[in-house]
Amino acid sequence: MKALSIRNLKKTYANGLVAVKGINLDVEEGDFFALLGPNGAGKSTTIGIISSLVNASSGEVRIFDADLKRNKQLAKSYIGLVPQEVNFNQFETARNIVMNQAGYYGMPRKEALKHTERCLKLMHLWDQRNTVSRRLSGGMKRRVMIARAMVHQPRLLILDEPTAGVDIEIRRSMWETMQQVNEQGTTIILTTHYLEEAESLCRNIAIINHGEIVEDTDMQSLLARLNEEHFVCDVKDSLKRAPIINGYEISLLNAQQLNVTVPKALGLNQLFQGLSEQGIEVVSLKNKSNRLEQLFLDLVDSGKKD
Ligand code: ADP
Ligand code: MG
Repeated sequence: MKALSIRNLKKTYANGLVAVKGINLDVEEGDFFALLGPNGAGKSTTIGIISSLVNASSGEVRIFDADLKRNKQLAKSYIGLVPQEVNFNQFETARNIVMNQAGYYGMPRKEALKHTERCLKLMHLWDQRNTVSRRLSGGMKRRVMIARAMVHQPRLLILDEPTAGVDIEIRRSMWETMQQVNEQGTTIILTTHYLEEAESLCRNIAIINHGEIVEDTDMQSLLARLNEEHFVCDVKDSLKRAPIINGYEISLLNAQQLNVTVPKALGLNQLFQGLSEQGIEVVSLKNKSNRLEQLFLDLVDSGKKD
């Protein structure tokens, strides 16, 4: 079953800014899915729409069997949202913060107590349950946010840049926590602008830039593609078919032009050698610009800003 299905989703803000430009996205139940993109790409807007905090301008959103427009309450009940900023009352205890959320979902007190205990234990916060949350460490505060988001047993947990601006130790412990939650069967969607984070956690990934999905693939293929370069190679004599050289992907653009994919680890020497062994004379070789690489330069830039 699909945990999330988005069709042709658009969002134009009141000031005329088009933040989301007709995106499509599918997330399977059980997945750990990354929505990766630089600052301002449209991640929070997309997530805001999924979790009913932002109204879409048009398009369809389905969460499990619930259509967001026709069955909003059911759709909302499936989702636990962890917003980017710590937004609970810091003068309350961790236990009360989670209890209040259970109350918000209309849970009877006995059940609320049970689920509060379950979530605080899951987040390794049970010993701190009576501590005023202001006194908790940064990492613990973030875990309180996750405990709160999970009290109603959501099938889909959405985390909006949970580790942005967080130091490396807290980040690693949060990664473990999220993995644990996913292993216990909760589908997770994580937005981030750290490729490294998506890489170590997620199975599938979509990349959003300027309100458009520019990649939607599994993590392994994405990483493989980041490790290859593309060239256009002009050859002297006309060819009938593309030469075959171990390790390289070669196709004919036309009789005198080849499209070559080169794994970075392999380099170009063996390519030239292989071509010359087959009697093919190279006239010129041009590096094709790699859209994905440019995108990651942008991501790295935007990651530096915080
Ligand atoms: P991200 O979460 O990827 O950083 P956002 O979804 O927050 O991106 O923002 C996408 C674009 O929409 C940005 O250009 C941002 O400035 C703009 N934006 C976000 N919220 C609003 C709003 N409430 N009103 C107008 N523009 C907004
Ligand atoms: Mg955001």
